[in-house]
Amino acid sequence: MTDPTSVPDPAADSPDGFATRAIRAGRAASGRALAPAIWASTTWESESLEDAHLRAISARGPEFYSRYGNPSVRDFESAIADLEGAEAALAFASGMGAIASVVLALCSAGDHIVAQRQLYAGTLSFLQGPCARLGIEVTFVDGFAPGAFGEAIRPGRTMLVIAETPSNPRLDIVDLGAFGAINGPFTMVDSTFATPLGQQPLRHGVDLVMHSATKGIAGHNDATLGVIAGEAELINEIWSYGVLHGAAASPYDAVNALRGIKTLAVRVAQQSHSATEIAATLCSHPALSAVYYPGLASHPHHDLATRQMNHFGSVLSVEVRGGRDQVRTVFEHLRLCRLATSLGGPETLVCHPATTTHAGLNPEEQVANGVSESMIRISVGLESAADLIADLTQALNRS
Ligand SMILES: *Cc1c(COP(=O)(O)O)cnc(C)c1O
Repeated sequence: MTDPTSVPDPAADSPDGFATRAIRAGRAASGRALAPAIWASTTWESESLEDAHLRAISARGPEFYSRYGNPSVRDFESAIADLEGAEAALAFASGMGAIASVVLALCSAGDHIVAQRQLYAGTLSFLQGPCARLGIEVTFVDGFAPGAFGEAIRPGRTMLVIAETPSNPRLDIVDLGAFGAINGPFTMVDSTFATPLGQQPLRHGVDLVMHSATKGIAGHNDATLGVIAGEAELINEIWSYGVLHGAAASPYDAVNALRGIKTLAVRVAQQSHSATEIAATLCSHPALSAVYYPGLASHPHHDLATRQMNHFGSVLSVEVRGGRDQVRTVFEHLRLCRLATSLGGPETLVCHPATTTHAGLNPEEQVANGVSESMIRISVGLESAADLIADLTQALNRS
């Protein structure tokens, strides 16, 4: 367990420390090359019968076969471990590959999971569908109500407690200190919206931090990748299951993510700065009834976000006055913002969660998730903030 009372290294906490580490982290397999090397091989030659045996049986040992580990993927993992302040990290073929592998590695039939209700829709569907089918019971709680996670824990039966912060799509914030103080079951935070530079859940005593690296970490809409980080013993246990589950990360995606990590600090700084400006400007737009962004003083969890986050992230959500028809009109008039699902990339993307990311939820579940017919999620990219404000304003003026 990471000691939550240990004094953090001030240099490690400063944005400059992150920027420097992001440039240098995860270089072991690249030799003297400055660009990360792609190890495409699926298999490695052994020196002898004994050597082959050793490679086959060691947990995360020397190169053996690609599903067990790959040097390019390992470099990506060590970069994430470095940025998260973790002993170890483990990559997967996608964010969902990471979540499914963690749940199935740690939970058996008859076990119990406590999860925040306001989750990424894929995570929610996995917990409601396959988990229920396999006899893993899940209790959903309001992740923002103080004490809600703890009250739902059944001592001896609850194996895993899952939180997501900031949450999708309403950007609510879970108190990482309170979450990390939970004793007994393993705790996991989906930190995708924050990126490893936005917050470090492990410093608060959380056992596992998880990212869809498909989003801000890779950051260019060209890699599908997931990653978890935590103590080496726990990561090794999940690895042992993961080798059988088979959601192994591709070295090509790992290399794209390593490239993304080098510019992560400047990208998140710019995106979060633009998101703050856009949120502040849109607050007074008459076509909107609400703007959700943790960087706004009016956000219900603004103080908590200020305490536990280094930046407020690249995503904001708004509610237009009216409903789906007004959303459609806004989408038809946007020139710069693109209608696509994902976040953390260079292009600014808009989506309508009710009909896309959260389309699989029934109306009550949508309300519980903070999703409404009039909501638009905006993932702020790297265009100039002034151009984005002009584009959003002219489209909203038509609604
Ligand atoms: C996208 C996303 C996931 C799933 O990741 P994939 O890489 O698409 O499998 C999980 N959690 C959050 C918060 C996400 O945004």
